[in-house]
Amino acid sequence: MMCHNPVSGKTMLAERLPSVLPELDDDAAMEVSALHSIAGLMPPGGQLIRRPPFQAPHHTATVPALVGGGSGLARPGAVSLAHRGVLFLDEAPEFGKGALDALRQPLEHGLVRLARSRGAAEYPARVQLVLAANPCPCAKPSGVVTCECSPLTRRRYLGRLSGPLLDRIDVQVTVQPIRAAELTEVAGAGECSAAVAARVAAARAAAAARWSGLGRRINAELPGPVLRRAPWCLPARDTRELRARLDAGSLSARGFDRVLRLAWTIADLDGRDRPDADDVREAIGLRTGEAL
Ligand SMILES: [Zn+2]
Repeated sequence: MMCHNPVSGKTMLAERLPSVLPELDDDAAMEVSALHSIAGLMPPGGQLIRRPPFQAPHHTATVPALVGGGSGLARPGAVSLAHRGVLFLDEAPEFGKGALDALRQPLEHGLVRLARSRGAAEYPARVQLVLAANPCPCAKPSGVVTCECSPLTRRRYLGRLSGPLLDRIDVQVTVQPIRAAELTEVAGAGECSAAVAARVAAARAAAAARWSGLGRRINAELPGPVLRRAPWCLPARDTRELRARLDAGSLSARGFDRVLRLAWTIADLDGRDRPDADDVREAIGLRTGEAL
């Protein structure tokens, strides 16, 4: 089906992400279904939506399409339709500055607040955000274009993604283009996806059990101060490099907490009780895109 369209690895990776996430629990399924119902997008049959949603708005999408709006009952935007799932912005630097800025508040608060003529409408918007970007404006998914962009052009292109937005990105990876001939091999990797899904489910269960006393379910929901204080703070020897980066200003305070959350997730995925120094290093490497 996709043979004539070379597909970039990043798009395939993003589309597959929901398939390794666990089913939504009852509360989440109710929330997600309600949002889709308001938008008139409930699947026929009316059963609750149990799979984490996936939304991939095009870079020409308007601000209301992204965050919600419209006259009368405000329609939820892509960021709310992706609630408890994945919001994928392909070719992220191509999105308008206004659109990217409009996403900042929902990403920060997990909530969209829309001003209405009478009061305001609020929709949940707790998503895993995935941004994909080519290194420069001339790059094409096929990867056959010879790039003639200057370093300045390249820097400006990625510079369209604002610091506050990038500060919310926990994992940076470089993905090579996939050629049509390789797609068949990738398509045969279904069993691998199932194995990953099982590992994610086990990690989620471990996190939910650990944080249940705090009323949280996943590491991403943990307030930073909780992870920096006993009993959950890590030994100083394990966070030495992390603290050095904070002191040097190469990591923000928000980034510091995000690396800690990611280190817990790495340990959970590996079936261990607590993160160690290697997990923290790996989390720093994933965040910065550096190979550590
Ligand atoms: Zn280029």
